[in-house]
Amino acid sequence: MTSYTVLNPATEQPVTTVSQASSEVTDAAIARATVAQRAWRATPPGERAALLRAFAAQVDAHAEDLAALEVANSGHPISAARWEAGQVRDVLTYYSAAPERLTGRQIPVPGGLDVTFKEPVGVVGLIVPWNFPMPILSWGMAPALAAGCTVIAKPAELTPLTALRIGELASQAGLPDGVFQVLAGKGSVVGQRLVDHPDVRKIVFTGSTEVGQQIMAGCARHVKRLTLELGGKSANIVFADADIEKAAATAPYAVFDNAGQDCCARSRILVQRSAFDRFMELLEPAVKGVQVGDPQSGRTQMGPLISASHRDNVAKYVPDDAPVAFRGNTPAGPGYWFPPTVLAPVSVAAPVYTEEVFGPVVTVTPFDDEADAIALANDTPYGLSGSLWTRDVGRAIRVARAVETGNLSVNSHSSVRYWTPFGGFKQSGLGRELGPDALDAFTEVKNVFIATD
Ligand code: NDP
Repeated sequence: MTSYTVLNPATEQPVTTVSQASSEVTDAAIARATVAQRAWRATPPGERAALLRAFAAQVDAHAEDLAALEVANSGHPISAARWEAGQVRDVLTYYSAAPERLTGRQIPVPGGLDVTFKEPVGVVGLIVPWNFPMPILSWGMAPALAAGCTVIAKPAELTPLTALRIGELASQAGLPDGVFQVLAGKGSVVGQRLVDHPDVRKIVFTGSTEVGQQIMAGCARHVKRLTLELGGKSANIVFADADIEKAAATAPYAVFDNAGQDCCARSRILVQRSAFDRFMELLEPAVKGVQVGDPQSGRTQMGPLISASHRDNVAKYVPDDAPVAFRGNTPAGPGYWFPPTVLAPVSVAAPVYTEEVFGPVVTVTPFDDEADAIALANDTPYGLSGSLWTRDVGRAIRVARAVETGNLSVNSHSSVRYWTPFGGFKQSGLGRELGPDALDAFTEVKNVFIATD
């Protein structure tokens, strides 16, 4: 086995060293998961539900340790990391109700009785990115387990620590051996093997559109089920009739949350021309007020970027002659810091406007009317998230229906709610996670006809 030294992105100091699984170790895990799945799907629904509740209780009891691990591994501010650990508990609890409600249908047919069953797809490979290691793990893991699937999770090489700990908590909660396994390792080794192995029946992948395209091609060879949650370049559309104060005050949270390393980041702010100057006046103090610094402090709102190489990628979008309207601060000393940065005016052909930066960089662009706003918002291959601000209810509904995106908030900067479906249009993904129908992605409908004549 090879190993990987995890660095704390706020200090650049080693945190710990993690063994990385090989292709052979991955095959052994798949064999365990295949055997375990037979017993897990046969476990009475009430028992599966109780085990998921016990798992949620273990996460709750260790939420503070999980949050501290995420602060050290990912540099997330402690308040955010606490929310993320709580999200794992809440998502497990939400889906713990599902095993006992996994009902099929009875369909009227001549000459007999027709019923459908929702059968678990089998072993699920869950490939997780580094930006939200805990929530994204839970969004795939909890409904898959509830559906009667077994799960092998592969965290990102950079951020394996919380996933490994959550794997231990699953065992402590009493989940049988092989039902939920976490394999730290490289995407090109462990992730690729999960995609290529015929006994893994479904892949849930969250990450870049580029790797998602490769995974889709790999899954096609086996006609393997696949959910993709990919990149984004979402718009935050502000009409002149909106509560401009609120739209400007919340715009930094809509894009600088997790230092902009957020697939839902509203990294293109579009403002109606007549309100543009007022919006910029209000945005400046909001951006300069973002507290960037020590992730362990309860006052910190934004931490560092994940790595030195990622900081280099982000910096390429803000060269020395970039049109910086204003920017926030960063601490001096070690750490992969990048200040919250607002660019305007920016050409709609500029890479910073068209590409996913995945850092704390936002462009602000004026628009003339509703049609112009919709055209600008849709002028991207992505379609994951977005916000729109207006006091006109009719316009809110018209624009919300017209913007080609999977998740849209009106007069709010919020993104993901585990009670509601989440996923992308266009190149932002395939399929939906979360919400009441999430188990559809982990079950196959079986139709059974019973002759009565
Ligand atoms: P990557 O696509 O580089 O990696 C994502 C995961 O895939 C990692 O675990 C990685 O492993 C693994 N991987 C890499 N290559 C392969 C392969 N050939 N086969 C199987 N697995 C592989 O994305 P990032 O980690 O850089 O994450 C950032 C991206 O994720 C952004 O584009 C962002 O928009 C997107 N994202 C989308 C979300 C959504 O819900 N739509 C939510 C969050 C992020 P390793 O790290 O070891 O290379």
